[in-house]
Amino acid sequence: MAFKPANSIQDLQYFGEFGGVNPSISDSSTYTFLSAKTMFDTFEGNADGCYLYSRHSSPSNLYLGEALAAMEGTETANVSASGMGAITPVIMQLCGTGDHIVSSRTIYGGTYAFLKNFAPKFNIETSFVDITKLDVVEAAITKNTKIIYCESVSNPLLEVADIKGLASIARKHQLKLVVDNTFSPLSISPATLGADIVIHSLTKFINGSSDTVGGVVCGTQEFINDLRNVNDGASMLLGSTMDSLRAASILKNLRTLHIRMQQHSKNALFLAEKFEADGLKTVYPGLESHPSHQLFKTMMNETYGYGGMLTIDVGSLDKANELMELMQNENLGYLAVSLGFYKTLFSAPGTSTSSEIPESEQLEMGLSDGLIRFSIGLDADIERTYKMMRACMETLNILGAKHKLSTAL
Ligand SMILES: *Cc1c(COP(=O)(O)O)cnc(C)c1O
Repeated sequence: MAFKPANSIQDLQYFGEFGGVNPSISDSSTYTFLSAKTMFDTFEGNADGCYLYSRHSSPSNLYLGEALAAMEGTETANVSASGMGAITPVIMQLCGTGDHIVSSRTIYGGTYAFLKNFAPKFNIETSFVDITKLDVVEAAITKNTKIIYCESVSNPLLEVADIKGLASIARKHQLKLVVDNTFSPLSISPATLGADIVIHSLTKFINGSSDTVGGVVCGTQEFINDLRNVNDGASMLLGSTMDSLRAASILKNLRTLHIRMQQHSKNALFLAEKFEADGLKTVYPGLESHPSHQLFKTMMNETYGYGGMLTIDVGSLDKANELMELMQNENLGYLAVSLGFYKTLFSAPGTSTSSEIPESEQLEMGLSDGLIRFSIGLDADIERTYKMMRACMETLNILGAKHKLSTAL
């Protein structure tokens, strides 16, 4: 039977301590014990259901974690203070000195910077590869490799990872497949396709209101226990703990994710088709022209579409900047990084979120100067939005000559 991630969230039932329809927020950093023995047992990890100290776990964080685990179809999950606060402990937990990672070369700039510049301080090396070429991925594996790392839909180029294919390579070489699913919540469920660990920046679509940063690691109970271990758990010891009040607020936003994703996807598909028809170089996984359109189709939970992210290439950074400023002046969205907001957000990744990646490497991977990344909003009238965006492009002479001719007639 097809996996239904939104049903899994809907079916959870949490009550507050006075019968509230929302769980009570655990507004405490520490917890009392009726007996000293139980405290000792809790330290040793042998007292289920007891809380010790909120960096380790707290009821509000567990509620949110369980909802996200249900969404991803994993045994459990651990929430963190940010997406990077989820990614970095996973890498540090799975790798030690001398170990090696095979990573997609088109990943979030912060993750790229961590693997390229920070992990080598611990003698952890990364080979960055074209993740869409399974033979290239496999060829990069060495005897020291521990992880294959990718994003289901990559930032910012919207490359799509063949998660089943990567999972079988990972199994063959006894590696962990770690997938950042931030761009495609609900649409793609990497764990059901064979990923071992699924990560999200909750900051983006999942929370959806651009009012906080947050992250989650979804995986087996054993791995999450390892991350939380008081003696050698990277999440416990590196300390990027989410606050309980924030966990409660993200849980409430998560409940409307399925409605929001459908609207983001519907709007993005509409604009992508129009932009492409207007002759703009448009990248969106929902377009037939996307090299991995068929692959995405085989992996997706259809209801949620191809996601809210698209890119266009307007030729130069100057044009990109002019267009973004004009669109902002017309109140079509905001010139801002991040994604998953009710308003459309746009930025030029080469000079912002992917600026950690050296220019020569940006060129090699197809990250051109004129690229604009859009996170399409929840606009109620996307046709109006399109007309206004097209007017901005016409003002700046961005659309091709053919198009101008046809509208002039
Ligand atoms: C934003 C983002 C991150 C980092 O998340 P933060 O919450 O900002 O720490 C990681 N991966 C992807 C794909 C992202 O878009």
